[in-house]
Amino acid sequence: MSKYDVAVIGSGPGGYVAAIRCAQLGMKTAIIEKYNTLGGTCLNVGCIPSKALLDSSHHYEDAMKHFEEHGIDIPGEVKINFKKMIERKASVVEQTTKGIDFLMNKNKIDVFTGLGSFKDATHINIKGDTSQTIEATNTIIATGSKPATLPFITLDKERIITSTEALSLKEIPKHMIVIGGGVIGLELGQVYRRLGAEVSVIEYMDRIIPTMDTAQSKELMKAMKKQGVKFFLSHRVSEVSRKADQVTVLATDKKDKQVTFTGDYCLVCVGRQAFTEGLSLEKVGVKANERGQVDVNDHLQTNISNIYAIGDVVRGAMLAHKAEEEGVMVAEILAGQKPHIDYNLIPGVVYTWPEVASVGKTEAQLKESKTAYKAGQFPMRALGRSRASGDTDGFVKILSDATTDEILGAHMVGARCADLIAEMVVAMEFRASAEDIARMSHAHPTYAEAIKEAALGATANRALHI
Ligand code: FAD
Ligand code: NAD
Repeated sequence: MSKYDVAVIGSGPGGYVAAIRCAQLGMKTAIIEKYNTLGGTCLNVGCIPSKALLDSSHHYEDAMKHFEEHGIDIPGEVKINFKKMIERKASVVEQTTKGIDFLMNKNKIDVFTGLGSFKDATHINIKGDTSQTIEATNTIIATGSKPATLPFITLDKERIITSTEALSLKEIPKHMIVIGGGVIGLELGQVYRRLGAEVSVIEYMDRIIPTMDTAQSKELMKAMKKQGVKFFLSHRVSEVSRKADQVTVLATDKKDKQVTFTGDYCLVCVGRQAFTEGLSLEKVGVKANERGQVDVNDHLQTNISNIYAIGDVVRGAMLAHKAEEEGVMVAEILAGQKPHIDYNLIPGVVYTWPEVASVGKTEAQLKESKTAYKAGQFPMRALGRSRASGDTDGFVKILSDATTDEILGAHMVGARCADLIAEMVVAMEFRASAEDIARMSHAHPTYAEAIKEAALGATANRALHI
């Protein structure tokens, strides 16, 4: 029987990064993945394919709506080859997952393909084409999550679908009804809207992306409405049914009036739930909470001392980079180090266009904790860079402590905010004040100048260009 210092179950960004860091630190490491490709949700049916389709559909939208204003005429008709778009996405996924094979090989990590389940606290059964058992001194559970649904919905995965199917459709929907105005609903809703579908987003709360700053919800909804996406806020879905190629969704609005939606596809994206099926946690007594997440302490250790858990399967934001940080942290703990993750500094990004990005506290959170703060907000439309590219939607908002001027949160909507937020993460990691950022030179003309201007606003209401 093969014996390892560490076995990692699940090869998503949490699992494969944990395995690499363990190997870097000299541990004999195995990784177990039930699917034939490595990379988990993120690489196969999450972050990477969704961004590939967002980029492809963005090119199409530019060609259809924006080339002309730049003085570019297309002599013929611009057409979508949807099959090719989906094939390109598949090839991006393939290249990326093959990259993980390379990394496992380079770091001398043994890869086992099959379902991993605990035999006892130090032995894991692997059921694949063949069955085998390995011994591991420590195990890291990184089994991720699966799409959540509503109790009355039957996902037929043809017309009543999750994000997984939405990333591999065979045709462009005529009318896609999206249940859930969160990250997936908006990213994939935007993809299909750009490709010509009518898209109706039904959201239970009174705003989209309800965990982000209220100003971001408003600004993104305004921009997406201009793109033709329809929003139905404060709507409670009560029934989803299918007859032949037609899907009907019944919902109740805030005045208790029933609203009926009919379309050809219904995308259900109301969150994701931790995935532990098949692990046989009960055999080793690893505890899970009422939401099915594996219970862990601050060191990501379960109630069984040599078993750890990371990523979507534990509490916290379901984000690839959060899972990665946790993977590194557990590996370093196993090596006797004392790493720490500041969860407040894990950025959140929505890859629509305009992009939405946040780090730290929102205004609502600061109000709730009765923290006195100052706010500086700068509109993208006031930037020369934005006017040059035509990306004038959005703003940068910086919140800083009223007394110390330390930056407490940054929230932005606009072109390339997914990348811009990194500056604010660095600033907050080093506990910068708004004044610090306001006094740094930001290249001109860039979108990043909005950060400098918002910081000038936050520190002493002295933005220069508004
Ligand atoms: P996962 O990536 O879910 O990997 C878990 C792996 O474990 C899977 O491969 C699974 O097959 C395997 N597994 C499970 N049980 C077993 C078992 N018993 N034995 C063997 N293997 C097992 N996050 C971002 O940060 N940015 C984004 O842009 C982004 N976009 C997304 C878009 C979509 C459409 C979706 C669905 C998600 C997106 N996410 C994004 C979220 C991100 O994918 C997850 O947060 C991330 O994948 C979690 O990583 P993980 O390692 O915890 O789990
Ligand atoms: P989400 O939590 O982002 O959004 C779900 C939305 O559905 C929320 O707005 C919620 O209020 C709404 N909702 C819940 N129940 C409802 C109901 N009965 N009727 C109508 N609306 C309802 O979840 P998601 O969009 O499914 O994404 C799942 C996870 O994947 C998220 O946690 C996210 O972190 C991750 N993800 C991240 C990215 C990214 O980082 N860019 C992209 C996609 C997915």
